[in-house]
Amino acid sequence: MTDRKAEIAANLGKVEERIAAACAAAGRAREEVTLIVVTKTYPASDVRILAELGVRHVAENRDQDAAPKAAECSDLPLTWHFVGQLQTNKVRSVVSYAGLVQSVDRPKLVTALSAAAVKAERELGCLIQVALDAEEGGRGERGGVAPDGIEELAGLVANAPGLRLDGLMTVAPLAGPYAGRQQAAFQRLVEFSTLLRAAHPAANMVSAGMSADLEEAVAAGATHVRVGSAVLGVRPRLR
Ligand SMILES: *Cc1c(COP(=O)(O)O)cnc(C)c1O
Repeated sequence: MTDRKAEIAANLGKVEERIAAACAAAGRAREEVTLIVVTKTYPASDVRILAELGVRHVAENRDQDAAPKAAECSDLPLTWHFVGQLQTNKVRSVVSYAGLVQSVDRPKLVTALSAAAVKAERELGCLIQVALDAEEGGRGERGGVAPDGIEELAGLVANAPGLRLDGLMTVAPLAGPYAGRQQAAFQRLVEFSTLLRAAHPAANMVSAGMSADLEEAVAAGATHVRVGSAVLGVRPRLR
């Protein structure tokens, strides 16, 4: 085993232990939570190692980096999640490799994703990204739609050809009423998920929690955690 593989395996083991402990503490089965490893800024060779170690879900936030990486790794049994703010001119590229886009935050993006998915003859999973720091309309500082826009956007996705409404995603806000209160933020997202599922029962994914706050996300009821630095190392620059 190479040094890098041993390092990633050790980190993955620690993250796995954290998820298992958080599930046990919350009285949840381990299978209720899926680990998505965020590979942004790390090379395709790391993605290959992750796949060898049994990871099946990876995420990226910039199409410029993700597209070549996904192409290099197209032989691997991976589902690619797109989790970054997405411009409509990048949609065609993203749809060519991503199985899910977790950052759906405006009607114009739904229209573009739908057109691209139909053209590519693919079904694309979509999560609505919720900005918990934008309760009064507008967009959140870290992307996402205000909570009062979830219903409309979900309806658009559910009715759009080529798209499948899978659930909700959030990034813990740095400002506003939920700053520093990750668990409360994630609980709020789960409340919105319950409301969403009343109209769209299959949209049961709740994507929340990162390296620093995955325990709070599991405690609140997240079904997917997105973990980058705890598995691959601290990124040289925040972006
Ligand atoms: C980078 C990123 C993550 C992972 O963050 P870490 O702190 O490295 O675990 C999760 N979600 C999104 C949307 C990201 O951009």
